[in-house]
Amino acid sequence: MISSVLPTYARASHAFVRGEGSWLVDEEGHRFLDAGGGIAVSVLGHAHPELVKALKKQADLLWHTSNLYRIPNQERLADLLVEHTFADTVFFTNSGTEATEAAVKMARKYWHFHGNPDRNVIIALKDSFHGRTTTMISASGSAKLTEGFSPLTPGFQQVPPNEIEEVASAIDDSTAAVMVEPILGEGGIKPLSDTFLSDLRQLCDDRDILLIMDEIQTGMGRTGKLFAHEWSGAAPDIMAIAKGIGGGFPLGACLATEKAAAGMVTGTHGSTYGGNPLACAVGTAVMKIVSDQDFLAGVRRRAGYLRQRLEAVVATHPKIFSEIRGTGFMLGVKCRVNNGDFVKAGYDQKLLTVPAGDNVVRLLPPLNISEEELAEAVDRIERTAECLESSCDG
Ligand code: PLP
Repeated sequence: MISSVLPTYARASHAFVRGEGSWLVDEEGHRFLDAGGGIAVSVLGHAHPELVKALKKQADLLWHTSNLYRIPNQERLADLLVEHTFADTVFFTNSGTEATEAAVKMARKYWHFHGNPDRNVIIALKDSFHGRTTTMISASGSAKLTEGFSPLTPGFQQVPPNEIEEVASAIDDSTAAVMVEPILGEGGIKPLSDTFLSDLRQLCDDRDILLIMDEIQTGMGRTGKLFAHEWSGAAPDIMAIAKGIGGGFPLGACLATEKAAAGMVTGTHGSTYGGNPLACAVGTAVMKIVSDQDFLAGVRRRAGYLRQRLEAVVATHPKIFSEIRGTGFMLGVKCRVNNGDFVKAGYDQKLLTVPAGDNVVRLLPPLNISEEELAEAVDRIERTAECLESSCDG
């Protein structure tokens, strides 16, 4: 008999009932070290006092009014995002997929607004992930996501990552925009090189194409800069964010320059809940902490420590691991054993990690995780590898 919850997820049996910083506590009281951060969401860990305070304060005042009225919390968060990024304006959503949807709609509307509605194709990358709506699985094009869901949404084409010539030759009179994740997350922590990103910016400028970045996973301090594209110096015209911005409260946003947002006039887009007072109260609290330069410097320092310790573990367990990829606290360890088996074996060590494509195990811990907790995570990763080795050796 089908379960009352539609069985679309391969869930582990653990059920967590409480969170404290970088730790999750299950129904039996076991404490797990959360090196997956709810898939890059819990940027400030669990039950951060500032976030709890912001949510409780707003909960006592007002939950919802709708976008029929001004929402001061939304305005405050938009101002902060504009202050700290390339963007001039922000549209709020409840999830990442809605943010990439808004980005694609905006790029198409831009060309419509400028009298060129046939410019509507978005070039995306192979192995990319932009969400699960019919349109966003069509953007990725990956068979794993699209199988059985045809007909797909037209207007997307895919090129290999890090190959600027392929992007250049894919651009024609129908191209509206190029859309990329600075590090392909679900695809297996595959970073785009700084050179590719700056060449892509140049190419988009030269050919008059909009550049969309999906920073849903890479953003909000995850790589040690507020947004990952800052490492390359190449800024997008439109950017989708989500995950970390709400620190666990559902929130996303589509940020844009005034130029790129030109077509998004009154009535062109909307959302009942997007930018709700509760979500924006939490988002503002997250943003105030994460956008601080000292906080980001701390992320880079502790991420450097994690990387260094992990490199040693990877080198001493060549039967289990082959390499480490990624930046900051967005790391992928490519495995020689099945990545799902590694994640499962980690549960026995009370360690939470996240599988990704290309047989990678992702480490996406809270950005405020301590050095001691990182040392503990590395020890647990090593113990997991040792367990798998002893059964590998049989
Ligand atoms: N884009 C990227 C890069 C993501 O990593 C994700 C989620 O994993 C999404 C889009 C979709 O976000 P959501 O699941 O919040 O709709």
